Amino acid sequence: MSVKEILTEPHEVLRQVSKPVERVTKEEQILMDDMLETMYHANGIGLAAIQIGIPKRIIVMDIAWKDEKRNPMYFVNPVIKNKNKDLSTYEEGCLSVPNQFAEIDRPATCEVEYLDYNGEKKMLFADGLLATCIQHEMDHLEGILFIDYLSKLKKSMILKKLSKEKKNSETLVI
Ligand code: ZN
Repeated sequence: MSVKEILTEPHEVLRQVSKPVERVTKEEQILMDDMLETMYHANGIGLAAIQIGIPKRIIVMDIAWKDEKRNPMYFVNPVIKNKNKDLSTYEEGCLSVPNQFAEIDRPATCEVEYLDYNGEKKMLFADGLLATCIQHEMDHLEGILFIDYLSKLKKSMILKKLSKEKKNSETLVI
């Protein structure tokens, strides 16, 4: 397993639509292992493959590992089957939008069909943080970031900050 570099906004790769995985092979499993390690290393609770520059429809998540022991979840080709009309609001952040947070409304529950780590078809009913997290990660597969839901003004403020931070950090690279 190895820790990969996480792409941060603005970055055109993050805006790509990821492609479905034909079959879960050793290659995808190694990718999922690396993604998980990268996510834990960055203190995140979810990561999509595109965030490390791989345009495949793969997500890893572990929403409780900070408090309890690790409970990794793997989603390949996830599809939302049912969404609740009721919304819930969480303050979201993103490893690709560092140090920025905003309240986002999303369907409070959803059902997701996907392939697991072994390529087996599974169905998951998600609510609470799990529902928000899976929907946030699935947005990455479409090239969507949580800041896209904000007002133009708020989004441009965040983008400005991110560009500034990026510039500063790049000048420190020797
Ligand atoms: Zn994210």
